[in-house]
Amino acid sequence: MTSPLNGRRLPAPPVSCSVLGSVAYCSVTVGNIEGVTSPCKAHSGENVSFSSTRRGFLAAALTGAALTLAPVSFAAAATGTSKTKTITGHLDPGAADFVYLPIEVPAGVNKISVSYTYSKPQVAPGLLGNACDIGIFDEKGTDLAGKGFRGWSGGFRTEFSISAGGDTTPGYLPGPVGKGTWNVVLGPYQVAEQGLDYTVNVTLEYGPDVAPFKPQYPPQQIAGRGAAWYRGDAHLHTVYSDGKRTPEEVAAGARAARLDFMISTDHNTPASHGVRGPLAGNDLLILTGEEVTTRNGHYLALGLEPGEWIDWRYRARDKGFEQEAQRIHASGGIVVPAHPYCPYVACRWKFGYDDADAVEVWTGPWTIDDESSVNTWDSMLAHSVRTGGRWLPAMGNSDAHSVPQVIGFPHNVVNAAALSRDALLDGIRNGRNWIAESADVSVDFQVTSGGKSATVGDRLKVAADAPVTVTAKIAGVPNGVVRFITDEGQTQQVTLPASGQGTSTWVTTPQLAAYVRVEVRHPKIDGTSGSGTEMGTVIPLGPMAALTNPIFLGAS
Ligand SMILES: [Zn+2]
Ligand SMILES: [Zn+2]
Repeated sequence: MTSPLNGRRLPAPPVSCSVLGSVAYCSVTVGNIEGVTSPCKAHSGENVSFSSTRRGFLAAALTGAALTLAPVSFAAAATGTSKTKTITGHLDPGAADFVYLPIEVPAGVNKISVSYTYSKPQVAPGLLGNACDIGIFDEKGTDLAGKGFRGWSGGFRTEFSISAGGDTTPGYLPGPVGKGTWNVVLGPYQVAEQGLDYTVNVTLEYGPDVAPFKPQYPPQQIAGRGAAWYRGDAHLHTVYSDGKRTPEEVAAGARAARLDFMISTDHNTPASHGVRGPLAGNDLLILTGEEVTTRNGHYLALGLEPGEWIDWRYRARDKGFEQEAQRIHASGGIVVPAHPYCPYVACRWKFGYDDADAVEVWTGPWTIDDESSVNTWDSMLAHSVRTGGRWLPAMGNSDAHSVPQVIGFPHNVVNAAALSRDALLDGIRNGRNWIAESADVSVDFQVTSGGKSATVGDRLKVAADAPVTVTAKIAGVPNGVVRFITDEGQTQQVTLPASGQGTSTWVTTPQLAAYVRVEVRHPKIDGTSGSGTEMGTVIPLGPMAALTNPIFLGAS
């Protein structure tokens, strides 16, 4: 056998084999390139047996929804050199959620680079094609919420590298490439009936560490900004996950949308937190968070400590979610299920709302899944009145990834005691916010009775039969449709003039309405107002322009 690199004769390659399920895997070294093949060519045609003694030899392990393959080892090498090994394998439909490829990293490595490809066979319309995410954990291990996380790029990138320095790929965490067992992690979240063939190349570069990356975290508050209504988009992506905008472009977009704050929520990684500091300013508070992308829906972890990472490797049937929600709460953050009726595979929310602090009922341009989210949320409001328990506030965010998605469409307008992380999260946690499609839209929503008043998220504590005047002063929605909605449903619908400005009032009592909330809709595409109290085969109203949290009426 000759080396493909230099033509020299090589000794017979060392081969080690392991068996996983019904497939044997072999590791073959040729020069500085090692391949792990599946099925093992040395075993082809062989009927692999699975005696208990043979099982003892197996390096591969199956645990729950995770699969760990046999490790691939690199030897130490001279400074300035590099080594590449190639791992190939095959996954059948029904594969584990996460497949771990252990990499034994020796001392003296200053950079690890990984690239991967996988087969994308043609599938019939209506069937799922192959889709496989990738990320990596370092020598500190792969425990849930452990210290070993070093980055995740989902399906957005085909290669990445990690060093101590700033040349680390966005989405990955710079730092030393320590000696020990690293794990490349595949997330085959769709596997076609033909199966998924993958090839992963791992390259180690040997030498001393480059100058370390120094994170610059943004401040958690802007001094001198007292109680006010603050506008902010709390669901934004960048090139640090699957967005096409840089953090600089997202900050510029937030300023263009006239927002007071924004929250960084790249999928499954805090890697961008350390570059946000220079982008914040006295005109824009940038808070840190993560969109946690599980196999049973996505949620926002908002207001995390800068650099804090939340794990996503669990389903609704597993234990992980409660544990991670507790960690988010312990660090002062909030848990917000995002786009709960998203129709994509693995996207619909299945964890319930017991651990949630709010729910994102409106995500980006108004679509039918938002309509479903609002309906479910409204039912939960009535349920909270019946049980006397806490109620779940609504949020709205853009989830903007790339042009032409508009940052701030929609965003939250939060009644907060200060322009700070704690005050804003407190406002959202208590439902003291409404949702606007843009900063051109304003809604001043109040209830009054006998000299008392209350606004969004509050309770007006008056007698059950006390007359209550409900007032919504709107601007910025030409020919908009203003709806008052209570636990009984829509009780009033009024159309605004072409100026988009107007004030709607309605008189009720706490015994008639346990809560009141406001929706402002655009006209339907045919220019008519539509009706919120009609059955139909299409949504009977136009897209949302503004939506408030409720005001509760009467003693609790
Ligand atoms: Zn999402
Ligand atoms: Zn998102």
